[in-house]
Amino acid sequence: MNLLTDAWIPIQQQGSYQKITLQQLLCGEQSGELCLPRNDMELACLQLLCAITQVLFTPKNKKELGQYIQQPMTAQDYVEVSRGKMSWFDLNHAKTPFMQIRGVKSTQPTGMDKLLAGVADGTNKAFVNPQGLGEVLCGGCAAIALFNAANNCPSMGGGFKGSLRGSTPITILIRGKELRQTIWLNVLTEETAEAAMPWYQNTKNQLPNYLDTVKADAKIAASAIGLNRGLLWQPAHFELLPPKTSGCCSCCGCIEPVYDGFNKAKFNYTVEGVWPHPLSARIFTVKKGEKEEKFPSFTTTAPTWTHLSRLVVDQQTDKEGQQTAPVIQQARTFMASDKIQLIVGGYRNNQATILERRHELFSLAQGWATHGEVIHQIIAVGLAYKTALRKALYLFAVGIKDKVHGSGINLCESAETNYYQQTESLLHYSLAAVDYAAPSAALNAQNGKLKAMVTALFEQATEPYRQEPKMLKALALARRSLNKSLQELEPEGANT
Ligand SMILES: [Zn+2]
Repeated sequence: MNLLTDAWIPIQQQGSYQKITLQQLLCGEQSGELCLPRNDMELACLQLLCAITQVLFTPKNKKELGQYIQQPMTAQDYVEVSRGKMSWFDLNHAKTPFMQIRGVKSTQPTGMDKLLAGVADGTNKAFVNPQGLGEVLCGGCAAIALFNAANNCPSMGGGFKGSLRGSTPITILIRGKELRQTIWLNVLTEETAEAAMPWYQNTKNQLPNYLDTVKADAKIAASAIGLNRGLLWQPAHFELLPPKTSGCCSCCGCIEPVYDGFNKAKFNYTVEGVWPHPLSARIFTVKKGEKEEKFPSFTTTAPTWTHLSRLVVDQQTDKEGQQTAPVIQQARTFMASDKIQLIVGGYRNNQATILERRHELFSLAQGWATHGEVIHQIIAVGLAYKTALRKALYLFAVGIKDKVHGSGINLCESAETNYYQQTESLLHYSLAAVDYAAPSAALNAQNGKLKAMVTALFEQATEPYRQEPKMLKALALARRSLNKSLQELEPEGANT
């Protein structure tokens, strides 16, 4: 199974499902939407397509990238370039199988379900995943799962190295009008790559680490890892067992040769520093003069919009800062005058356990590239109303020491959940529809709606306790706090 020549890309168009080749996709012979039963596998499939395309055809500059976006490439161009990289993308290659190492020794093979994040050991696995998923995988799904485990998932546990981006990074991609365009919009030009990693030119002929292997206990500077090597970085030692002639893939459902297990072995090395992944924002803090960088991830149940500012807006002070993904930096230079659609995804984990999968679409109106402060403000206000509600309900629960006896009833968590549920579409709408050059009308409208929602949520939460004489003082205290907070959140000049 070679990812450059075989039909492994699962797509759906007008209700019909088929698997197509990368050549058919990039040459415009076939198109459609990616179609897999899990949103994380779809996202990983898209990431893999972008990585392969980046490795095969890095455009020199914006002009060349623009041509790729506009015009499907010719079959001749595809064949010529892909010929040289066949050994990188062959899942069963005798010496250098895709994202695997030959000769991995383990006492017993691991089931394919371990390769699918969250299936084997999530506490809510029955809820998250259809039953039976992960027993056997076809070549395409196995390749996607290997790539996903290497890039987006927590490591296999103690002694197994995790991805270059840490355990569960947030990934951000730009969405185009169709799949082919989406792929190109997430490919860096040489110019952008050089800006993101000044070592790009010196390292551009490097091989992936499953072809040119890392030595045990090596110390590797992130700045020694080139673009291709980093995109296809396999942090662990895995080797698929030979495929069975035919079976029904538990992920995509196709009857094809299938894999039913793999060997894994511990392997140690250290990567020093943070590798600037094209599809990830980075955040940093400065401690004792040292810059500490990391990739944002979903650490709480707060919805994805709460992270959007640090994903698309650059900010920097002496002590901390955030830098958007190279692919967004690049988009700013040629999509600034358009609206943009973003795909944002990742896992929320507790160590090796996946608690939640996210894969969402955001639209940002025209002006997004130059008015980061508006994005920041929309999100800050969205969070501030939530805080006002929580603060009031917290006072209702605990009161004020020696003055007001608290009710002892904590309504904060459920109210926060309700707040996030009810405001989700409003926040998406604000980001997609605001006039970034003159945002005050839209911001005022958003404030008004959030205020009404918070007031209603407060009344709804406290309604059952309104008749409790012992709680009346706590309730009055909470209401005063809410009114004061809401007053403070009024846009300037709104009351005059
Ligand atoms: Zn499959």
